[in-house]
Amino acid sequence: MAKQAKTAIQPTRSEDFPEWYQQVVKGADLAENSETRGCMVIKPWGYALWENIQQQLDKYFKQTGHQNAYFPLLIPLSYFEKEAECAEGFATECAVVTHHRLEATKQEDGSTKMEPAGELNEPYVIRPTSETIIGAAFSRWTESYRDLPLLINQWANVMRWEMRTRMFLRTAEFLWQEGHTAHETKEEAIEETRQMHSIYEKFLREHLAIPTIPGEKSEAERFPGADMTLTVEAMVQDKKAIQAGTSHFLGQNFSKAQDISFTARDGSTQHAWTTSWGVSTRLIGTLIMAHSDDDGLIMPPRVASQQIVIIPVTPKEDTRDAVIDACLALAQTLRSKDFHGEPIRAHVDKRDLRGGEKKWEWVKKGAPLRIEIGPRDLESRKVCLQRRDQAANEKTFLDKEEFLQNVENTLQEVQDALLERATNFRDANTHTCSDLAEFEKHWQSDQPGWLVTPWAGTTEEEETLSKKHKISIRCLPLDQQDGDEAPCILTGKTTKARAIWGRSY
Ligand code: AMP
Repeated sequence: MAKQAKTAIQPTRSEDFPEWYQQVVKGADLAENSETRGCMVIKPWGYALWENIQQQLDKYFKQTGHQNAYFPLLIPLSYFEKEAECAEGFATECAVVTHHRLEATKQEDGSTKMEPAGELNEPYVIRPTSETIIGAAFSRWTESYRDLPLLINQWANVMRWEMRTRMFLRTAEFLWQEGHTAHETKEEAIEETRQMHSIYEKFLREHLAIPTIPGEKSEAERFPGADMTLTVEAMVQDKKAIQAGTSHFLGQNFSKAQDISFTARDGSTQHAWTTSWGVSTRLIGTLIMAHSDDDGLIMPPRVASQQIVIIPVTPKEDTRDAVIDACLALAQTLRSKDFHGEPIRAHVDKRDLRGGEKKWEWVKKGAPLRIEIGPRDLESRKVCLQRRDQAANEKTFLDKEEFLQNVENTLQEVQDALLERATNFRDANTHTCSDLAEFEKHWQSDQPGWLVTPWAGTTEEEETLSKKHKISIRCLPLDQQDGDEAPCILTGKTTKARAIWGRSY
């Protein structure tokens, strides 16, 4: 392939952002749509990204005392009848299992027709989230205050019959983790909700290079059945918001519904205070939309499926083996080094393909660093380094030893550059506004970004504004609830609180 005249991804971000996103996913070979409605096939390059996210988050969960466990996929319908608010919140998105076998009937044309048979007395709901079934287990596991806290996490798939789906960002079946905890006191449960929220914020910032606004959801946007929902909101390159993760304080709502009760220190019977928190494969969609460019995916090194791709340049047959051996040796050396406590992930692309073709494939796949080694570099002990966060034709020639000595720094530089770029972008597209006319006019623009306003409105008032401008309160930023007194943008009531408004995925 000759030097690309156009961008590797068509259309570009500015031409058609949603279509650009689909093409980045395809070009990077991350995933594809499947014939199952709203569900995707996650391909190895995409799944490796998920595995890295999973392993790194899991470490934080374990460091904070959580243990992994696994609960059934199918939840008895009766469990949903106990906790009305949560059940109603998910009612329109539930897939329900009503039969337990298939019956084959031969058709006149010789074909076989399969039909569900053996209707169940009690249908099962495919979990949209597991509060109810984990709550039932918690109820069995808590007798005394000595059994608390229960700090459980589950890595699983869930199903929500979403009407409008988009790969990774919103699918009918998705992979996630759901943390569920039960505590003796309200304060402890709130502390847990906040702790997991800050772990999400840190993980997104340090591992995914995505700066988020940590905040509380307004009542209208709260998880069904929660007393408080904390969220991390990310801005992506079309200036929309993505709710990247949530941590819920559930009060005693679920524990009362499911009888998670215990004998307290004073001998009385009390209900536990519970929390739940989750992030999903949506993190991958957020990462793609936050960092990638018109040449394809850009993966932050810390979670990248491969961090360094080594491309042997083999123009002549007689030096081919020597070049490939040098590349393999370099990969081995790299794998013996650590980046943030994990062996560096290095891959040698030995395929018999033209160099240009390979290069562009790895550009589209978003490998953070590419190294080319050719016959001449063998003698001079040089490598050609290309960074995915820089222009595709930018190259640096380095001594191999020098490259090896600095490789962790180089990876960190790419990581930091992505975070800085995303932070600058978010800040440049977030504005404060205290005038209603200005606020209303703002949403007429195509990619309006976010507005921060003084806010003291009710849920109904929020919904009126939301419907009118197709926006929502993304969150009430935690560090902006005690600011200078100002009149609420809508009601004029004096308030110290601020809300962030924006369009969202
Ligand atoms: P929730 O239990 O609704 O608070 O969801 C937890 C997290 O899962 C959310 O913050 C989203 O980031 C993510 N999520 C929710 N729905 C979907 C979906 N349909 N596809 C992918 N991720 C989702």
